[in-house]
Amino acid sequence: MDAFTKEMEEHLLKERDALLKKLNNEGDTFREEAQLSSGRGDSSDLASDEGSYRKMEALNAMDAQRLKAIENALKRIADGKYGICLQCGRKIPEERLRAIPSAVLCVECKSENERMNR
Ligand SMILES: [Zn+2]
Repeated sequence: MDAFTKEMEEHLLKERDALLKKLNNEGDTFREEAQLSSGRGDSSDLASDEGSYRKMEALNAMDAQRLKAIENALKRIADGKYGICLQCGRKIPEERLRAIPSAVLCVECKSENERMNR
């Protein structure tokens, strides 16, 4: 692994840790709220647990998406393919990766994808 990839990996791991911590903290808050609102604090109440989990999921959809992008990028590193566009196989410029360490597509493919999804 070259120095640049190593540096990006450290960035990604740090960002992943922060996101996981955030998601876990918010999950605890929701669990506590769900228990208070049910008035019984019955943790075996699966329906309400599931409901609060869904709520948490919706609120954290953005974070979850970022987390997924980070996991993807880390997988590319593990595969030795980090910095290579997932779609066209060309090298992603280092400036782009520095700006968005979780990028797995080059700018051209990214904008092409966005056009197609519109
Ligand atoms: Zn590309």
